[in-house]
Amino acid sequence: MTDAPKPSNFLRTIIRDDLAAGRVSGVVTRFPPEPNGYLHIGHAKSICVNFGLAQEFGGVCNLRFDDTNPSTEDVEYVDSIIRDVSWLGYAWDGEVRYASDYFETLYGWAQHLVREGLAYVCELGPEDMRQYRGTLTEPGRNSPWRERPAPESLELLARMRQGAIEEGRMTLRARIDMGSPNLNLRDPVLYRVKHAHHHRTGNAWHIYPSYDFAHGQEDAIEHVTHSICTLEFEDHRPLYEWFIANLPVPSRPRQYEFARLNLSYTITSKRKLRQLVEEGHVQGWDDPRMPTISGLRRRGVSPGSIRDFVERTGVSRSDGLVDLGMFEYCIRDDLDKNAPRAMCVLRPLKVTLTNYPEGQHNELLVMAHPQRLDLGQRVLPFSRELWIDREDFRMEASKDYKRLVLGAEVRLRNAYVIRADEVVRDAAGEIVELRCSYDPDTLGKNPADGRKVKGVIHWVEASRALDCEVRLYDRLFRDAQPDAGERNFLDNLNPDSLQVLAGCKAERSLADAALGQTFQFEREGYFCRDPEPAANGQVVFNRTIGLRDVWSEAGKG
Ligand code: ATP
Ligand code: MG
Repeated sequence: MTDAPKPSNFLRTIIRDDLAAGRVSGVVTRFPPEPNGYLHIGHAKSICVNFGLAQEFGGVCNLRFDDTNPSTEDVEYVDSIIRDVSWLGYAWDGEVRYASDYFETLYGWAQHLVREGLAYVCELGPEDMRQYRGTLTEPGRNSPWRERPAPESLELLARMRQGAIEEGRMTLRARIDMGSPNLNLRDPVLYRVKHAHHHRTGNAWHIYPSYDFAHGQEDAIEHVTHSICTLEFEDHRPLYEWFIANLPVPSRPRQYEFARLNLSYTITSKRKLRQLVEEGHVQGWDDPRMPTISGLRRRGVSPGSIRDFVERTGVSRSDGLVDLGMFEYCIRDDLDKNAPRAMCVLRPLKVTLTNYPEGQHNELLVMAHPQRLDLGQRVLPFSRELWIDREDFRMEASKDYKRLVLGAEVRLRNAYVIRADEVVRDAAGEIVELRCSYDPDTLGKNPADGRKVKGVIHWVEASRALDCEVRLYDRLFRDAQPDAGERNFLDNLNPDSLQVLAGCKAERSLADAALGQTFQFEREGYFCRDPEPAANGQVVFNRTIGLRDVWSEAGKG
């Protein structure tokens, strides 16, 4: 994490003031994911904000699963979220927490509200409930069950809990104000009947608390001081405060809202991401094209660049769209500084150095990174047979082409100058080999006679090359706002978001590439080994990102 002074934002100001005024003695925040999907780049923002503020002010941050809706939740999601938060570099206070740990306490507080005349069991069905609720311009109407005596509500609530009541038949509602201009205060639902198996509490419960009834109380139980959420909860804040004011809670948390992160060319709705996975538009939650933390990790993006990006987006109270180019800039900036260099030929063409002794094998010792001595050196085998990229050879010279041309010279990166003397074609007329000669006096120096050699190309020694598959990824969507307005985001998928290149040849040292280590393949971009081998057993490298921002360059041209 960087030590650079952080620019202020309204949350930092609030916390600083609260500490200065003694309203709080320490900072406790929480990150409260619902385990109904994998975390995405938007969640990374919430994680960095919550853990980051706690860290900055010497406080703590809890990781709490908001597992109040058993029908959509799963332990697979719990496990992935725990892994992702740790990978981002954050440590939560104590054990992982679960809303379900507080079900009994919450139930007791629901009974308390009933006894105080502040909640009742209502028998309006979902459709009637909607009718009675009113609209933004019309007040709601009182439920016919609103004056139900507390003992009767308590009795029915107990039966709801035991599973004696059908789903949709009854709810427990707060008794607040059906005439409130804030719809959230029109007798909101606290408990619904749900005969579902819960991944932690099993079949113990037949009622589950609503988000509103659960969230603030969980914060209070955990002595959270600053409950930070996104702007869509602003209208829920009066309800949050109503519960805190009317319940015997052990602390008084406060809620603050900030604008969620919206990123161009990216979807950050868990429901839509799930649809991409379930309908097979991508290969899983961790497909390297997904904006999930696990997808970004598999793609080779470092946690540091995610934190850097999130910090640069700032914290504000107005919604906006952040340019994906800014994220890509952070990814590239990090990799340029930290990724060891390597060579890999994506479209191999054989080169034979006719004047290099047959059977002779040399080893060239080269830097892993031009500016980073600390990253050490690597060994490049060298011999008479090499691979270069097909696109680095042409029969005829042209003005802008600075690579290898028949009859001319080029430098092999980190090695010698070679000249293309002759092409070998197969029966179909396709070039299958170049016969070249090398200049033995050009290793690490220019030709002695002053010949100018402009181009540099990458190469891999043939006999020890690592056969591999390379996957090139592009943006998953074609338009900047794939799910704006009425449009179906699936119509916006980029059909060319994945290109698979088989039969690639990488330098030997990449056989030992560690998982999670991203390399710069010289002249090609940044690549990271995939955890899974290809169907033929070969190593797979995923392109994290290209060397240059071709999208914005295309836009300018
Ligand atoms: P759902 O619509 O399923 O509730 P969610 O994206 O709100 O999805 P949660 O698991 O409830 O998912 O989110 C956990 C936390 O992450 C919440 O505090 C939420 O406000 C925050 N969060 C989610 N998406 C973003 C985003 N794009 N930017 C910033 N914070 C986000
Ligand atoms: Mg949510």
